[in-house]
Amino acid sequence: MATLSPALKQSSSVVVDHAKGSWIYAQNGRRYLDFTTGIGVTSTGHCHPRVVKAAQEQIGKVIHAQATTVMHQPMLDFIDELGTVLPEQLNSIFFSNSGSEAVESALRLAKMATGRQNIIAFQGGFHGRTMGAASVTSATLTVRSGFGPMMPGVFFAPYPNSYHYHWSEEETVEFCLRELDFMFHTQTDPKDTAAFIIEPVQGDGGYIKTPPAFMKALRDIADRNGIMLICDEVQAGVGKTGHFWSHQISGITPDIMTMAKGIASGFPISGIAANESIMKLAWPGSQGGTYCGNAVSAAAGVETIRVIKEEHLVANAAERGVQLAGLLHPLAQRHANIGEVRGVGLMRSMEFIGDDGDPDPQLARKVQLAAEDGGLLTLTCSPYNNVVRIVPALNVSAEEIDEGASLLTAAVESVLG
Ligand code: PMP
Repeated sequence: MATLSPALKQSSSVVVDHAKGSWIYAQNGRRYLDFTTGIGVTSTGHCHPRVVKAAQEQIGKVIHAQATTVMHQPMLDFIDELGTVLPEQLNSIFFSNSGSEAVESALRLAKMATGRQNIIAFQGGFHGRTMGAASVTSATLTVRSGFGPMMPGVFFAPYPNSYHYHWSEEETVEFCLRELDFMFHTQTDPKDTAAFIIEPVQGDGGYIKTPPAFMKALRDIADRNGIMLICDEVQAGVGKTGHFWSHQISGITPDIMTMAKGIASGFPISGIAANESIMKLAWPGSQGGTYCGNAVSAAAGVETIRVIKEEHLVANAAERGVQLAGLLHPLAQRHANIGEVRGVGLMRSMEFIGDDGDPDPQLARKVQLAAEDGGLLTLTCSPYNNVVRIVPALNVSAEEIDEGASLLTAAVESVLG
């Protein structure tokens, strides 16, 4: 008898029977408010009728057409539809299947476009499990430890996480920029550096917004030195932050952007976007793959973007995010074991610490289990695994936010008293 590999670390024993909107109906007969959305994927809620219909119609027409052999209409439509929400400058797209693959493509493109080898990533960033993506990841050791040596030419710069440094945002940004400059004088010459890769809002690192002053400074340093700025929008992209893309928080535009997760409501498809002047520097065949840009996923992606626009879901995410923050922030005042409640838009998290102030992963896990017991699904993350994060669907209702926040509050109180 075959079993599922324990390498897949599971956080709950829930087996879903079916799911609709923000709700998962489990085989155990219970229903759960899903504030995990498949790790930020089911952007339009589970099984949005329009997305279901688009996918069903496409399945009957063509499931797989390999784009290097024959083009298919859903890919062309998805390019058009993404063109309505991408910054004008990012007018050329390459599709892949997962976030990790998109990161690999972005790194390759940066190397081809600059003819340089080195990459600067930021501490606490998560970019995926494939070797290139894992090599620029430092949010967790689980994708690195025991797998070395990783891809050479990667340098990790300090990330402006003011909670971690116990400094103001301004002081933290100043420190990180000074360290970056030091890195350019000691470890990687700007002329050898192909790209910065950064999440405008760190996801697995713990839902930390990169200060806009830092994003602007990176844009400026990249411009002055011919370095590509890669924004990894795999987790924070597609509306969750109250902006369509999380780099828009700081008003900058990356040279290369990755996207995945929320772009197709759960169908596997990812991609990178860049200006065609950069994209054309990639040599033919350097990017590709058997399944890249699947027709059913692309059809679901087209409808996902249309639903987000027509149902004004980015605005809803912004409003519901403010509501959620208002309900969760008081918890940090009431409980000394909550180091910080933070986030942006619908990406919200809580940092759990022990009485000594150190990260406490056991507390986070207990709160997660208590929430599940109460009927709310949450995620844990961060380098110390002591953060509980939630990321509801973009079309979550005000009532569902109230219900989720009270279930989370009850879970916290059942653990912390
Ligand atoms: N980049 C970011 C920012 C992510 O959050 C993730 C997944 N958590 C990835 C890349 C990798 O995506 P995937 O798991 O689809 O390969």
